[in-house]
This record gives sequence, structure tokens and C-alpha cells, in this order.
Amino acid sequence: MVSLQGKTAIVTGASSGIGEAIAKHLAHEGANVVLAARRQERLEELAKEIEDTTSVKTKISITDVTKQSEMETLVTETKEEFSSVDMFINNAGVMLLSFLKNDKVEEWEKMIDVNIKGVLFGIHAALPTMLKQESGHIVNVSSVAGHEVFPASSVYSATKYAVRALSMGMEKELSSSGVRVTNVSPGAVSTELPEHITDEEVLDMFKDRQGRITLESDDIARSVVYAVTQPDYVNVNEVMVRPMKK
Ligand code: NDP
Repeated sequence: MVSLQGKTAIVTGASSGIGEAIAKHLAHEGANVVLAARRQERLEELAKEIEDTTSVKTKISITDVTKQSEMETLVTETKEEFSSVDMFINNAGVMLLSFLKNDKVEEWEKMIDVNIKGVLFGIHAALPTMLKQESGHIVNVSSVAGHEVFPASSVYSATKYAVRALSMGMEKELSSSGVRVTNVSPGAVSTELPEHITDEEVLDMFKDRQGRITLESDDIARSVVYAVTQPDYVNVNEVMVRPMKK
């Protein structure tokens, strides 16, 4: 396992769930962490917790991943403060599950903006720096829904298939550049993610699912730590983690 001491990681969607856990785990492995999301208070609490329990430096960045200029600023300010960008964790995402017949066009657009354009803006902002450094690691958080489509997941899955396509393309394009790419595909993880669903039929469908085993955010964070702590020549391209069934 390669140490992350002195390295710097940017984590989008660090204000809750999987992103928060990834930031904590990377910090505990010695990486300075830049915590990006829109909810300032949540980021401040996390930064304090990390600084109280580790010796790494933290920085918070109020960033909307759908805004290209904010993603550029996130990377520029990280370089100014820490001089390198060693890991960029494209984690921010929304899952507004709905049936196509219910025609939630605004929610489709939101998922496309956050889940696809947000990841692309992350690549746009971080990749030139990593290519110049001839080193770096981009981790894209896709989903099991980026490998298969479930009832009401058509649009969400389309965005997560897109994330996986970007990861696969980058892996081919960057394999001799020193920049590594990992696509992470979690199954159901217990987070705030489903709380934004508005489709009543989906909410009804979910009532039947209570009691199912879900993963914890830490389970996914450990798989990210696994990928980014391999020796330089090892490129862990895909990690899929599902919960066991009862
Ligand atoms: P959460 O809802 O807990 O976290 C989502 C994060 O994304 C929040 O930190 C939120 O921060 C951030 N976010 C949302 N929109 C924006 C935006 N426009 N700009 C910046 N940040 C934004 O969910 P999870 O932790 O579960 O989700 C993290 C990732 O994992 C997502 O990509 C999700 O699709 C994926 N995933 C989750 C699974 C699960 O079962 N939970 C399964 C498979 C994949 P804020 O609101 O403060 O901006």
C-alpha cells in the first residue's frame, strides 16, 4: 500500500454520504483534502472533524459542480494552496428516480447537469494539471445503475452509464500519461441520496424495500482507498461493490 502522505485530494460532494466518507478515509491515510459541495456548514463541520483527528490540512470550497467556472476555481485554488492535485474524486451526484411516463423533464435535466456535466467539468478542471504533473488519479463515482437499468432508473442509469463511458475512455486515452482512472460502481448505500425523489410511484415502490441490507459509505470509501494506494503502475479501473442479500 502506497502512502498518501503529502498528497492532495479534491472530493466533490463531500458534504454528505459517500463523499464525506471518502474525504475522511483519504485524510486518515495522510492526504490533504479539499472538500467541495454547496452546503458550507456541513463542509465546515467535516473539516473540523478531520483536523481534530488527523494531522492533514483541509480546505473547504463552496462549489456547484454544474458551474464550469466554479470547478476551475476549485482546482486553481487547490494548486495555489497545496501546489499539486494528486487525486480528483468526481463523486457529487443526484438520483431523482422516476418513471419516464411521469415526464419529470426538469429532474432529467438536473441529473444530466450534475451527474454528467459535473463530472466532465471536473475532468476539464483537473486533467490538464495532472497531465502536466505526469501523475494523478481521477476517481469517478458511477453506480451499479451504470451497469444495469432498473424500473424508474432509466435517466439516472443513462447518466451513470455516461460516467462509466467517460472512465473507460479516459483509461484508454491516458494509459501512458501517468494519470490513472478508477470507476467506482456502488450498489445501494445508506445515504441522503433517495431523499430528493419526488415520483410518488417510486416512493411507493421503495416502501416494499424497507429492511433490505444496504452498504455504508465507509464500505465505498475503503474501495477508493484501495484504488489510490496501489503502486504507480497499477491502474484499478473498475470497482463494483454490492450489498449481500438477506
Ligand atoms: P448524498 O445525497 O449523501 O450526497 C450527494 C453529494 O452530492 C452531496 O454532498 C451534495 O452536496 C453533492 N451535490 C449534489 N448536487 C451538487 C452540485 N450541483 N454541486 C456540488 N455538489 C453537489 O448521496 P451519496 O453520498 O449516496 O452520493 C454520492 C455519489 O454516489 C453520487 O454520485 C451517487 O449517484 C453515487 N451512488 C450512490 C449510491 C447510493 O446508494 N447511495 C449508489 C451508487 C452510486 P451539496 O448538496 O452540499 O452540494
